[in-house]
Amino acid sequence: MRVKCVLCDTIHTLDDLSAIAKKLRNRPIHTYMCDPCHERITNKTNDRKATGNFILYRSPAKENEW
Ligand SMILES: [Zn+2]
Repeated sequence: MRVKCVLCDTIHTLDDLSAIAKKLRNRPIHTYMCDPCHERITNKTNDRKATGNFILYRSPAKENEW
């Protein structure tokens, strides 16, 4: 079957018996992403996660003077 990557609009041919092809056939709404794009997204997500670790949302420390 032929699928189009949602990110780079490249047409890819999938093996009809592959897991991803079956998934797409059962759920036509499921979007296909080619490997390079998938990798890119994964890396980006990881980067964001890594950066996010350095941002701490702390409520200002309040000293209780009672
Ligand atoms: Zn792609």
